[in-house]
Amino acid sequence: MQYDVLLRHARLHRRADLVDIAIKDGMFVAIAADLAQATATRALDVEGRLVVPPFIDAHVHLDAVLTVGQPRYNATGTLLEGIQIWSERKPSLTHTDVKQRALEEIRWEVAQGTLYIRSHVDVCDPNLTALRALLEVRQEVRDICELQLVAFPQDGILSFPNGRELMRKAMELGCDLVGGIPHYEWTRDMGVEDVHYAFALAKEFQRDIDCHCDETDDPQSRFTEVMAADTLEYGWQGRVTASHCTAMHSYDNAYAFKLLRLLARAQVNVVANPFDNVVLQGRFDTYPKRRGITRVKELLAAGVNVALGHDSIMDPWFPLGRGDMLAAAQLALFLCHMSGYEEIQDVLDLITTNAAKVLRVQDRYGIEVGKPADFLVLDAPSAFEALRLVPARLHVFKGGREIATTTPARSVVRRASEQDGQTVHFHP
Ligand SMILES: [Zn+2]
Repeated sequence: MQYDVLLRHARLHRRADLVDIAIKDGMFVAIAADLAQATATRALDVEGRLVVPPFIDAHVHLDAVLTVGQPRYNATGTLLEGIQIWSERKPSLTHTDVKQRALEEIRWEVAQGTLYIRSHVDVCDPNLTALRALLEVRQEVRDICELQLVAFPQDGILSFPNGRELMRKAMELGCDLVGGIPHYEWTRDMGVEDVHYAFALAKEFQRDIDCHCDETDDPQSRFTEVMAADTLEYGWQGRVTASHCTAMHSYDNAYAFKLLRLLARAQVNVVANPFDNVVLQGRFDTYPKRRGITRVKELLAAGVNVALGHDSIMDPWFPLGRGDMLAAAQLALFLCHMSGYEEIQDVLDLITTNAAKVLRVQDRYGIEVGKPADFLVLDAPSAFEALRLVPARLHVFKGGREIATTTPARSVVRRASEQDGQTVHFHP
């Protein structure tokens, strides 16, 4: 058999021996300890490096990316000033402006191995300018990235004029998922109604749900439980994601215990966003300052599926970032105290297999015979080393085609006695 691509000596996550991976017509066709006799158009010896399925950004805002400083920088760094600045920027959004920024940011993510992106799109805009632009982007990037769009009511479904109608219109235009923002509605009752409305709309359009939920340090913000109850009521198990859930950081342990069991029972996914959560939460604290991020480790232990998002990349809420999900995973490892050896292995799942479950793309995701040949070669021999070094994604493949390459940086130190110096490899 003549293969198109043959990867030699690949390390797979949680597998001890090295394997060879054969690709034909865009699919994985053989994975075995030794395919040395096989021939291929392109043979690539990866010399024991880690080969993983593509990274997934389960939560980002492509309409807001790369707008930092427009019309002004966030002086306090807070979530609320961010929302204020965004409302000032929104009237100047144009179709071309949104498309250009989104396409550029997607290139950043793809270059670093993220080939699936779930983006929330602010639909609190009577013209739905950003949504119309991103619907085109979703189509245009299909050769490099699969994009899901969530109808996201930034200013509220009930607290914004015609919020319900705008959400419905967004679904009619072709949004993939229904969003929500219950904790931001004016009252507790309106927040509950925000969730109920999202579920009713999701049922009507037969779509999945992903709500910003309890993104606050307020331990009285308890809408994630409403999402779980509605999930069971509607029979939407596995189709619902609660994003952020930062209030869970501040719940008392007795309530958190109850909630974790309910989320597991309802099979509600949780998405944490380490960059934004740690930067935006804890802002009303003096000292000690809360980290804000939800209880990732405890959710996993309770059997809840957890994944990560980048959330912001150079926007009014988070001025920095370069769209690297591996960097997001490393930060989550620190913030969530997941530095035990096995826990470090689990952290890689947060941006790969767990996230695939959130996006419900498992049928075409993973390094398995019969699936599309989408994968990354990391310049590291293991998940442990990948999370330590945040190394270059040397090769990025989608459907058997190499869509991105990166040449790793090389450092050289020259002692006084050395003319050429010695390369530093950062390995003990
Ligand atoms: Zn968000």
